Amino acid sequence: MAAGEYVSVSSQADTENADLTREKAELAGNPKQEYAELKDIYVKRGLDETLASSVATQLMAHDALGAHARDELGISDTLAAKPVQAAMASAAMFAAGAFLPLLMVLLLPAYALMWGLAGSSLFFLAFLGLIAARAGGSPLLVSTMRVTFWGALAMGLTAGVGALFGVAA
Ligand SMILES: [Zn+2]
Repeated sequence: MAAGEYVSVSSQADTENADLTREKAELAGNPKQEYAELKDIYVKRGLDETLASSVATQLMAHDALGAHARDELGISDTLAAKPVQAAMASAAMFAAGAFLPLLMVLLLPAYALMWGLAGSSLFFLAFLGLIAARAGGSPLLVSTMRVTFWGALAMGLTAGVGALFGVAA
């Protein structure tokens, strides 16, 4: 699970790095066109030609790659994917996700065990998914819903297979 999270976030980081490398090469090879590109972006965002060209000139003099990464590629420092953090959070989540339902087994009365366990597991999953999304820097609602959805599906399948073969879930 942690490994899966690492792979998905690192492939995002790889894409970002590849974009940055290409952008760096374009800036070195064709600065005029890159300048025009940046200026156009600012015009499209509502600046007039004069202001757009002065903003583009000054930002490129200050940090050309940074300006292109932010405004052309949409990569910023806070957005940059963090594979290690996401993997750590995912590992912690897995450990906690296994421990908390165990605790529920001890706390819940027998008749409420099945639904109580399923419900609380989903709740923990959603909560831990939220933490993982925060640590990994991915969109909170989407990530949490994704984790909860797949968790519910996995649980449902497990219960279904258990019922099919007559094994108590
Ligand atoms: Zn560019």
